[in-house]
Amino acid sequence: MAAVGGESTLRIVWVYPDLLSTYGDRGNLLILARRAQLRGMPVETIEVRSDQPLPTAADIYLIGGGEDGPQALGAQRLIADGGLRRAAEQGSVVFAVCAGYQLLGGSFFAKGTRCAGLDLLDLHSDRGPSRAVGELAGEMDFRLGLPPLSGFENHGGRTHLGPGVTALARVTTGIGNDGETEGAWHGKLLGTYSHGPALARNPALADLLLRWATGVSQLAPLDETWTDRLRTERMAAVVAARQ
Ligand code: GLN
Repeated sequence: MAAVGGESTLRIVWVYPDLLSTYGDRGNLLILARRAQLRGMPVETIEVRSDQPLPTAADIYLIGGGEDGPQALGAQRLIADGGLRRAAEQGSVVFAVCAGYQLLGGSFFAKGTRCAGLDLLDLHSDRGPSRAVGELAGEMDFRLGLPPLSGFENHGGRTHLGPGVTALARVTTGIGNDGETEGAWHGKLLGTYSHGPALARNPALADLLLRWATGVSQLAPLDETWTDRLRTERMAAVVAARQ
């Protein structure tokens, strides 16, 4: 974290909100900032549009979902800018959702064309036989020590993982990457198809990102009354949809 005015400030960058921000993804920024502030951490949030250079010295970078056109443009600009790659190489945390997740891989499909991704995660995406729309749930990779994933998905792409990444979760409801696995992570880079926003629906995942960013191994517990209610409500919707 950066030392600002004698205090350590957690800097969170919201990458390209003008192109990549669907289904409440901006809420991920609000949730992270709030959960850090409730632990007494000073936070600076920085929204960087796609016509601006990305700062490279932030602690956490958030990328949201997008339709095919904005996704392809976002990937081109991120590759040309180079800032996200440098930040990732320097050990910053990157949390990416849906289109943002796909463009961290080697390639993805948008509007019938294969597009180059940033190649920061060992995966690639192509087009699936149908659109994946609805509740997304899964059992998280045990190494992360997180409760089940809860989310909402809406994507046409399917994602294929290489040996250099680990699946974030095993799907119990929905499609995720391919109907079997969902999302991927490696080092401090983590991608998911979960909107909703993901970090409101998965506060333990938000805290994992905060722990990665700060190096603090245990964070003070927070009042989870509302997040528990949200998770319970969405789990009930998943069960109802199965019947
Ligand atoms: N355009 C991508 C797809 O349809 C990502 C969609 C999204 O971000 N919701 O697969």
